[in-house]
Amino acid sequence: QCITHCPVGALRERDDTERVFDAMADPNKVVMFQIAPAVRTSWGEELGLSREEATVERLCSLLHAMGASYVFDTDFSADLTIMEEGSELLHRIAEHDAGGEDAPALPLMTSCCPGWVRYVKARYPQFVPQVSTSKSPQQMFGAMAKTHYADVLGVEAKDAFCVSVMPCVAKKTEAALPTMVGESGDPDVDVALTVREVVRMIRASHMDPASYEDRELDRPLGFGTGAGVIFGTTGGVMEAALRSAYFLVVGENPAPDAFKEVRGCDGWREAVFDLNGRELRVAIAHGLANAGKLLDALERGAVHYDFVEVMACPGGCVGGGGQPIHDGVELADERTAVLRALDHDAQIRFSHENPDVAACYRDFLGEPLSELSEKLLHTDHTAWDMP
Ligand code: SF4
Repeated sequence: QCITHCPVGALRERDDTERVFDAMADPNKVVMFQIAPAVRTSWGEELGLSREEATVERLCSLLHAMGASYVFDTDFSADLTIMEEGSELLHRIAEHDAGGEDAPALPLMTSCCPGWVRYVKARYPQFVPQVSTSKSPQQMFGAMAKTHYADVLGVEAKDAFCVSVMPCVAKKTEAALPTMVGESGDPDVDVALTVREVVRMIRASHMDPASYEDRELDRPLGFGTGAGVIFGTTGGVMEAALRSAYFLVVGENPAPDAFKEVRGCDGWREAVFDLNGRELRVAIAHGLANAGKLLDALERGAVHYDFVEVMACPGGCVGGGGQPIHDGVELADERTAVLRALDHDAQIRFSHENPDVAACYRDFLGEPLSELSEKLLHTDHTAWDMP
């Protein structure tokens, strides 16, 4: 089914809401939702809720009332992504600095934005080997939910139906990639919904969101740190990764705001930090025009970085293509302030301190970049072709 936003019907948006309603009505399905960080900044905008009222806990309550079996938090798998990607960064830097013929190139580039990954593959394929192999938080969630956590929850993997609520249209194609499947060939994420689709589901269910109380997200996939929540804004993945990379190298936490220089809204910005005596040069770009300029400069050898974060949408996922649309109004800054406040007020602000992530490594994965982690949480960007 397609919903059109275009006055002449030329542009159509895929609508997957019926598939989710059908799964929730199927007594054999265990429907597990995950809610992405940036969704908590925006889902109430078209429903008459203030930002204070539109909490992720209230959305959790609505999804449960609609028929969800579990409602979890993508912040959890954002923390998991940091553990894997941060470790990948440190390994890559060590191998690069050791030199030799096979030394990998720097910078390592983030991989959690499928719009960016597709852009690199299509326009700058020479840089694909430098894109992190870590899957995005959406896909790490699906891979874990249908393996370890299906066991923990006593659910048969074949009955688990994973639905993600995303600020993003590109997440639909990411979930459908041939590489994002489990051993049985089933997709790790069955349906990726945009925020607009979830709003339509709430309206179609004739729910009055204001009349629902907050409900805690389910555990153990329902807890994320302040570092996980800032994934939803430009510079957030970089800042979260630096917090944990510092801990992994130095053995103690930095001040939570030690890397705040990476924040801001310049389309391409850079910073230099000292990491235990090694200079670490980082850059952040948002919007693909800025990403293109950055890659052109790297190609020319005009700039040198160790780690680069790119988000395809201006402002990052807070400005994502699946967010509510308000003609002529740009809300990315306002939504970013919500995420920054959630991080600031979070009890835990470091991904490596997420107790559920620690338990996941202790009980199942072993450690970041272990054989099992590589199998479930990493991917090969060259294993599929651009359509
Ligand atoms: Fe999707 Fe845009 Fe976020 Fe990239 S920046 S993951 S394209 S919403």
